[in-house]
Amino acid sequence: MRYSQAISLTALNNKKIIIIAAPSGSGKTTLVKRLLAAKDNLAFSISACTRTPRQGELHGKDYYFYDKDTFVRMIEEDAFVEWEMVYAGKYYGTLKEELERIWALDKYPLIDIDVMGALSVRDKYRDICLTIFIEAPSIEVLRERLIARGTETPQTLEERISKAVDELKVAPEFDKIIINDDLERATEALLQNVESFLNE
Ligand code: 5GP
Repeated sequence: MRYSQAISLTALNNKKIIIIAAPSGSGKTTLVKRLLAAKDNLAFSISACTRTPRQGELHGKDYYFYDKDTFVRMIEEDAFVEWEMVYAGKYYGTLKEELERIWALDKYPLIDIDVMGALSVRDKYRDICLTIFIEAPSIEVLRERLIARGTETPQTLEERISKAVDELKVAPEFDKIIINDDLERATEALLQNVESFLNE
């Protein structure tokens, strides 16, 4: 066996997945970016979705943006590890091929996903997942952050808040809960948890 083959077989035996879920507005995106910057053996798992790209977002970087018909066809073709209608009429899903792409790079996928999606991936890959729930200090802080972000209409704001209230109830199912009351402390806690899981 050639050396390169030996390396990739080792990597295949060492597949792991980091899953980070949080209510919208809990600061998850910032924490995910910090984690990716600190650890070059992690790669962001790019989800597919049917929402409109926000300013600056790119297909193949932030998401794979598809129209609804294409997404539904991909569901029928069994392309997803999981998919959810996260918000009314908007589909989001984790592609099987995306996880394989990242493992083939000898890296660990970092999945940023909604709470129910996180538990679906965990149920499929139970032995190789670390599930982390990021919690905002309070619903009021969450509301302020979402308003400050300026991406929501009054209706989508309320939709995101009511989803966050439901999601909080499921937090105890995760391996770790990190409260994002202080960005530095939350980043440190996240790094420590991920490092110890990858070193297991
Ligand atoms: P946003 O529209 O703000 O980018 O994302 C909305 C929510 O969808 C976030 O909680 C995000 O984590 C979640 N999400 C992103 N990708 C996926 C995915 O592949 N599957 C599921 N179930 N949720 C996702």
